[in-house]
Amino acid sequence: KVVIFWYRRDLRLEDNAGLYHALKSGYKVLPIFIFDKNILDKLENKNDQRVEFIHKSLTDIQEQLISFGSSLLVKYGNPIEIWKNLISDFDIAEVYTNHDYEKYAIERDKQVGEILNANGIAFYTFKDQTIFEKNEVLSGAGTPYTVFTPYSRKWKETLNEFYLKSYPTEKYFQNFIKSNPYDLPTLNEIGFIETESVFPKKELREELIKKYDEVRDIPSILGTSRLSVHLRFGTVSIRKLTQKALALNEKWLNELIWRDFYMNILHHFPHIGEGKSFRKEYDNIVWRNNETEFKKWCEGKTGYPIVDAGMRELNATGFMHNRVRMITASFLIKHLLIDWRWGEAYFAEKLMDFDFSANNGGWQWASSSGCDAAPYFRIFNPTSQTQKFDPELKYIKKWIPELNSFEYPRPIVEHTFARERVLKAYKDALDKK
Ligand code: FAD
Repeated sequence: KVVIFWYRRDLRLEDNAGLYHALKSGYKVLPIFIFDKNILDKLENKNDQRVEFIHKSLTDIQEQLISFGSSLLVKYGNPIEIWKNLISDFDIAEVYTNHDYEKYAIERDKQVGEILNANGIAFYTFKDQTIFEKNEVLSGAGTPYTVFTPYSRKWKETLNEFYLKSYPTEKYFQNFIKSNPYDLPTLNEIGFIETESVFPKKELREELIKKYDEVRDIPSILGTSRLSVHLRFGTVSIRKLTQKALALNEKWLNELIWRDFYMNILHHFPHIGEGKSFRKEYDNIVWRNNETEFKKWCEGKTGYPIVDAGMRELNATGFMHNRVRMITASFLIKHLLIDWRWGEAYFAEKLMDFDFSANNGGWQWASSSGCDAAPYFRIFNPTSQTQKFDPELKYIKKWIPELNSFEYPRPIVEHTFARERVLKAYKDALDKK
């Protein structure tokens, strides 16, 4: 009999909760990963950086496993069918994995659990992606927090060594099953092509984090950790990073808490996973949804340099600086009066670090429909944002070389006019309730 450890968004050997428990189960452990056809088929762009990042991370894991005589088994297809085949191919005692809080994943895990249980196989899942989950941080009244500051206060009060303790998987590596190496499918075999992406390094620049509060809002410099893609796919451990954050910089710790916060919001308020506003009355807004303007926003041709620079950075690299994410999102919603869900979907397609809860949280924050969002009448002014955060236009000029030439478009809409227009649209919608 074997135990299977199922990798998903936790692509590392070290300090991995589910893997640790599998290795301690008393059985030999076969690690697997499934390239999920249901998800991959939806990706229109076949040179998707995320798929390549996963592939690269699996290759790293495979190399390590081969070095101790084991191997990762990688499958491609519909996970439900694949599990049915695994049950007949292997004599499985138990299956271990880590929690995933997204709607599709919850449904998938439920189905897989049922199939396994029907075959007499136990299915164990663990918290690994977050420090706190589900009901671990609640208000005194036992309700979930919907405002960040009190949530983060309670998060910090609840934190102790227990939650940060790493899972020493390395003590049990001899419990991986011995096997000849399985072939990893190539990117081509799963329908994708290589991008020429340079992925952010998996290292925490401690000197940078120490001065994070001074530099984090300046998009022209490397002032943030750039670890988001690693956190997204679990190639780094959130426990290790939280320990570092506690030692280095509280402001940066807060960013990690935002991540937990939004994952918890998704858990407690699943309607946000169904395309709905967190505050339902905001679904009454009548959007303009002008497709030509949306296209210009996507392409970075609005005539507002800070917005266009951000969109061009996103299109070229799959990354956008947080400050600029806020500005571009606000511009689409408030200046162009386009449904935030259009922007959310565009970011979801392009962001290397795309994560449903953080992305939805960011978009609903910008549209003022979310938890702890900015009041709707506070509207980012792209010009003053530029004066504050890119006064020498360094970031802008990097992405818009034609800034001062006649090729660069005139502003798509006038700021004061757009401001009045959106204020009226929001007011009308909220008066309806
Ligand atoms: P750092 O500033 O170094 O922060 C460290 C880590 O904290 C990040 O890697 C991330 O995991 C987490 N974090 C930081 N800010 C936030 C936040 N506001 N919400 C949740 N987690 C946070 N982040 C994503 O990881 N995926 C997304 O799809 C995503 N979409 C966003 C959409 C919008 C409209 C906005 C305004 C923000 C979005 N963010 C998203 C949050 C934030 O912009 C990125 O996490 C950050 O820019 C990543 O860069 P970094 O790793 O250098 O972050």
